[in-house]
Amino acid sequence: MLIRIENIADYVGREVTLQGWVYARTGKGKLHFVQLRDGTGTVQCVAFQKEAPEAVFETARQLTQESAVAVTGTVRADERAPGVPGGYEVGVADIQLLQAVEEYPITPKEHGVEFLLDRRHLWIRSSRQWAILRVRATIMRAIRAWLHENGFVEISTPIITPAAAEGTSTLFEIDYFGQRAFLAQTGQLYNEANIAAFGKVYCFGPTFRAEKSKTRRHLTEFWMVEPEIAHCDLSQLLEIEEQFVSHIVQTCLRERAAELALLQRDLSHLENIAPPFARITYDEAIERLQALQAQCDDPEQKALLEIEWGSDFGAPHETALTEMFTGPVFVTHYPAAVKAFYMTLVEDRPEVCYSADLLAPEGYGEIIGGSERIHEHATLLERIRAHDLPRENYGWYLDLRKYGSVPHSGFGLGVERTVAWICGIEHIRETSPYPRMLNRSTP
Ligand code: ATP
Ligand code: MG
Repeated sequence: MLIRIENIADYVGREVTLQGWVYARTGKGKLHFVQLRDGTGTVQCVAFQKEAPEAVFETARQLTQESAVAVTGTVRADERAPGVPGGYEVGVADIQLLQAVEEYPITPKEHGVEFLLDRRHLWIRSSRQWAILRVRATIMRAIRAWLHENGFVEISTPIITPAAAEGTSTLFEIDYFGQRAFLAQTGQLYNEANIAAFGKVYCFGPTFRAEKSKTRRHLTEFWMVEPEIAHCDLSQLLEIEEQFVSHIVQTCLRERAAELALLQRDLSHLENIAPPFARITYDEAIERLQALQAQCDDPEQKALLEIEWGSDFGAPHETALTEMFTGPVFVTHYPAAVKAFYMTLVEDRPEVCYSADLLAPEGYGEIIGGSERIHEHATLLERIRAHDLPRENYGWYLDLRKYGSVPHSGFGLGVERTVAWICGIEHIRETSPYPRMLNRSTP
């Protein structure tokens, strides 16, 4: 019977056929071990000279890495057997060689990351990359499931857009039949139109930002999910965010335990992720960081922690802040000057806005940016002018403030940063199937 490795536990004692690829082969003399992967998992297949027909044993002996095969044999439970799910092996009775591979370029030895990124189309087969991308797929499914369960409607927003939404410095410009257009940095402005039609909406898709500095956290193409809610203020928004993020984490713990184990993720940091998350204001964050900096003995660290009221946090600040808490932490009420033009200003203190970033623990940094949006026409127009944005591009967006405008809020969660956090991955490049960065747009 043809089965998938993920279901192997149901077939102990039975003869099965597995279609897959040779991940590794070891052994000598009378015994050969083939680690077979089929996309759903990895299992050890054992060819024993005494049991397998001579020709089959010879095929097993000659199998090379990444050769395509169909292996038939009997499933045995053996708790020492490696693999995912692990604990099972297949006693080989037959091997059909579908394609023999000569010299697969990625060998079990260590390769440099640029070498691997150049071969990303093959690298995704490696167990670690496979595990990360499986977790990513689960995160994307959990995102849609939670939003659906909670009454959000997915409304796609355009990728080709006429105007900047998140500041002009990271725009990718394209030639749209002789006119200037830009790849979307966010779908938010369209979400704000969509809430008046559907109440609670989200868009979910690729997002483009021409990030000109190299960091561990920035790609030039990444996926963002952006929920937007009518009749919602900042405190209601944060409650939505903490439930949403907790659901994503708990789904991964439940469904991707084997992958997280393969990644050697310390689950104790994830198991306790549940509402409510800690909340501090930007003012309080600055005070705490300045106090920490004042006490700091290491001159290098001291310089990194330097910060004045009004500046945005860098990675060292975010890391230091999250170390003061056990789980994720919301930082609210940022200075308006470091945030986008559409965020609502605090009435009696217009230098700060009703915004919140969510910082992931263990130094993974910001994973969500969100805010209340200005809903009065005159105020919005004034902010567009203050940011020197071309009013003519925002005609339709201003229009929304004329026809049934209500207080509303929304946020954007970056998929890759969420994957990096949940998987415990140092650099965001491994969380995207085909990462796009300052110096890389291939394969
Ligand atoms: P940062 O300050 O880290 O550049 P941002 O303030 O530009 O982030 P937002 O505009 O609030 O980020 O975007 C919402 C979310 O999208 C972020 O919290 C993050 O998860 C994700 N994100 C933003 N820029 C990138 C990027 N270049 N690569 C990957 N994810 C990103
Ligand atoms: Mg940014």
